[in-house]
Amino acid sequence: MSAQPDAYTEALDRALLHAQAWLASLPSRPVGPRVDADTLAALSEGPLPASPTSPADVIDELASFAEPGLMAMPSGRFFGWVIGGTLPAALAADWLVTAWDQNAGMRFATPATAVLEETAGGWLLDLLGLPLGADVGFTTGATMANFVGLAAGRQWILEQSGWDLDRNGLAGSPRVRVFVGAERHDVIDLTLRYLGLGAPIVVDVDEEGRLRPDALAELMTAGDGPAIVCLQAGNVHSGASDPMGAAIDVAHRHGAWVHVDGAFGLWAAASPSYRAQLAGVESADSWATDAHKTLNVPYDCGVAIVSRKEVVRKVFGVHTSYLVAADATPGHPGPGDPFDKVPELSRRARGVPVWAALRSLGRDGTIALVDGLAANARALADGLLAMPGVEVLNQVVFTQVCVSFGSDERTRLVTQRLIADGSAWMSGSRWHGRDILRISVSNWSTDAADVALSLAAVARAGAAVEADAGR
Ligand SMILES: *Cc1c(COP(=O)(O)O)cnc(C)c1O
Repeated sequence: MSAQPDAYTEALDRALLHAQAWLASLPSRPVGPRVDADTLAALSEGPLPASPTSPADVIDELASFAEPGLMAMPSGRFFGWVIGGTLPAALAADWLVTAWDQNAGMRFATPATAVLEETAGGWLLDLLGLPLGADVGFTTGATMANFVGLAAGRQWILEQSGWDLDRNGLAGSPRVRVFVGAERHDVIDLTLRYLGLGAPIVVDVDEEGRLRPDALAELMTAGDGPAIVCLQAGNVHSGASDPMGAAIDVAHRHGAWVHVDGAFGLWAAASPSYRAQLAGVESADSWATDAHKTLNVPYDCGVAIVSRKEVVRKVFGVHTSYLVAADATPGHPGPGDPFDKVPELSRRARGVPVWAALRSLGRDGTIALVDGLAANARALADGLLAMPGVEVLNQVVFTQVCVSFGSDERTRLVTQRLIADGSAWMSGSRWHGRDILRISVSNWSTDAADVALSLAAVARAGAAVEADAGR
């Protein structure tokens, strides 16, 4: 029996109403959830009911159960971790992707989504100034995009040293040295664990967390054997990027594969005002970024970019009789199948919301998005600096601001007060031995009013901590 269209209509109508109510609540609701997970877990105890429930009732129950436990991450006053909101075109496109329900791995089987993703990939390469012939794959996030780039690097660098990884595996292979900056993101170590590459060799960084090319050169010279250098565009604390040109020169002189983790920071390359911070980045071999951070598509979407198509396809391509491959002619790489470029065989067409986001912004809108995030970070930093006893610990060069309120204890108390206040949400963290309040401006919708309200909330939290101390 095939499902009747009406079977969907009522549930989808309810979902639309609940989605609109959620989005309409964002400007006024407290940013944090009103209940914690343990409270919700207690409410949802019990086995799966035996009898069916109508789809529309399921959607109503789901929405009312979830509502108090939702964090307003898409709010213009959410500045936690590094998390973007959702552009309207991207959200609506994501719904269509779900309704279309394409298993988007094969160009032959799902031509519409394959071509939309290829188009989005081409636009991304152009915007970010990366080699136009590179392969672009859409992953769940930057973690998996980093995995793709580093897996391609592992394959290539071992091939260069005469080791057949596909045949022999890693056991007995030459040791691959992986060089990372001391302030790389933790997921780099995670992906190295996936890849069986062991602990990285850690390179010194400067006061903004940028890898020092002289230190890299020294460490690379001190040993030999196949090497991968993993650089960072966008330190989660300072927002600063490693000196790409100089570091890539050093790495390539030693024959290394260079991968760049640019989860949010690679987007600096899209803006004429910030691109100089990444000068030379295009000469790396692979890049990882997120679309669910700076580009503001809904979760989840990362982007894995590899300049050597044949390498990434060798690692991730699936060649078996029941799948129809896009590239029948040997020696002509062509566009390839989506499943050649990412770890998954079956997956949703998560590049389609990227297409919609970019199509809605256009080139000028994409530049304005990046510039606007950085300008709001600057405005927040300036407003904080005007408050007595507040220090901004980083040079605010992009979207990240690290703030101290004097002692570690006071900084922690202000952070707790701010989160309890609910008008804005910022994360606590630790950087260079100090507790900090960390601000990441990643939401397209943050405007001057959000900045003003958020600064007022921080000032209120600071005054409340002051009053408690005086009591
Ligand atoms: C967010 C982030 C990651 C991890 O990305 P996910 O999308 O969460 O998988 C990696 N590196 C940096 C620099 C990040 O900011």
